Amino acid sequence: THPVYGRIDGPIVMIGFGSIGKGTWPLIERHFEYDADKFVVIEPNADNHNFLTQHNIRFVAEAVTRDNYRELLGGMLERGRGFVVNLSVDTSSLDLMKFCREMEVPYIDTVVEPWDGFYFETESNAERTNYALRQKVRDEKAARPGGSTAVSCCGANPGMVSWFVKEALLMLAQDTGKDATAPTTREGWGKLMQSLGVKGVHIAERDTQARRLPRPRNVFVNTWSVEGFIAEGFQPAELGWGTHETWMPENAHSYDVGCQSAIWLERPGAITRVHTWCPTPGPQFGYLVTHNEAVSISDYYTVGAADAPEYRPTCHYAYHPCDDAVLSLHEMFGSGRQQVEHEILDVDELVEGIDELGVLLYGHEKNALWFGSRLSNAETRKLAPYQNATGLQVTSAVLAGIVWALENPNAGIVETDEMDHARCLEVQRPYLGPVEGHYTDWTPLQDRWQHFPEDIDESDPWQFRNVLAS
Ligand code: NAD
Repeated sequence: THPVYGRIDGPIVMIGFGSIGKGTWPLIERHFEYDADKFVVIEPNADNHNFLTQHNIRFVAEAVTRDNYRELLGGMLERGRGFVVNLSVDTSSLDLMKFCREMEVPYIDTVVEPWDGFYFETESNAERTNYALRQKVRDEKAARPGGSTAVSCCGANPGMVSWFVKEALLMLAQDTGKDATAPTTREGWGKLMQSLGVKGVHIAERDTQARRLPRPRNVFVNTWSVEGFIAEGFQPAELGWGTHETWMPENAHSYDVGCQSAIWLERPGAITRVHTWCPTPGPQFGYLVTHNEAVSISDYYTVGAADAPEYRPTCHYAYHPCDDAVLSLHEMFGSGRQQVEHEILDVDELVEGIDELGVLLYGHEKNALWFGSRLSNAETRKLAPYQNATGLQVTSAVLAGIVWALENPNAGIVETDEMDHARCLEVQRPYLGPVEGHYTDWTPLQDRWQHFPEDIDESDPWQFRNVLAS
């Protein structure tokens, strides 16, 4: 039997019913008490309406926009009750969470999303970064501390991986004979990471999900939002920038406002390759796609002043999407055109594969530790309906975030680094398949092609200079 985590009184409004919304709904249904007629979805795309109708889910067939959101949501929400679960693209997370907090309605999302048009119409690359998007949320938190809880960026990554970082640190502390008591403050976690000698963290992911049919040409195929992936893939590559780095790429830019934990490169993330490591493939290329957690983790674990840190880890995504998505990217960047046709691989057409998503903590006394979820599709099918392995890693994090928000209703705006990782993982873990730690002695200096000279630093394997593929 599945635990019921509590009752949600009042309207539950889900914004967006794509691959993640569709997978989150059955988890909400399973784990909370609420009045079914108070659950309402806002979903503009007619392709998703048949499912909603067949499952007797109330929906509003409209897009949430800058011009209508106050009226549209205002007409649905009740002050101080219910929940807003934002799983859409093209809606401003910041504006929606501000409105929910005004209404004292708890709120959750999985990404700091901007209004429609931002990603491709903003001229300045510096403004198109996740750093800029996130900093506005952090500024709002600083300007209006406390109040009704709004959980920012609580999916798999960003989201769950921040809880994995903490689990991995405790595991590393234990395995190196250090004090493995969980710290209770941000400063404590920063000092723990620093004392363990962790130089940086890859969010190291390998998605091996595949269907039998070869990818048709001119179709972008992925295991989650194609629109979301294309948008973030065209944003500049970004990474949290650690204090151990002695070299910086020539096309890098840093910041003198905000938390200053990250840099961005004058190049799209989805064609910027890095050397990384996951348990299944061993060494592999990943794409340095920008993500909120790269900035937030480097910020959270900073010891000392933002502009002159004593310690800060490097942190970035190193993503090997499913093979069809790799080919889709190759085709898109090569042709200079976005495919018009999009497909998200459905659990029923997938014939093999897992989503292996974890954090690779590197540069310490045991070299590197990968800690994460290795969830297969076969297992996903048994655990929850209407989603593939990638989806379940995201939706179960949303579930954990909702539980935490209900248990902490006045926590203000929070990121997953700031939440109780043990409680959240307790809720999420039944949905993650094997959650494992793997040590490796691989470094980015190994397994390269020896025939050509490279711009690397042989004196320190874990320099970003060695991680970045030329
Ligand atoms: P999807 O593309 O399958 O679905 C997005 C849905 O939003 C679509 O059904 C679309 O019709 C709807 N939508 C578009 N414009 C809207 C608007 N103006 N108002 C309301 N709805 C609108 O995407 P998905 O895979 O379900 O992902 C949903 C969101 O979750 C995306 O923002 C994605 O980036 C994010 N995500 C986060 C993680 C994570 O781990 N943090 C993982 C996967 C997806």
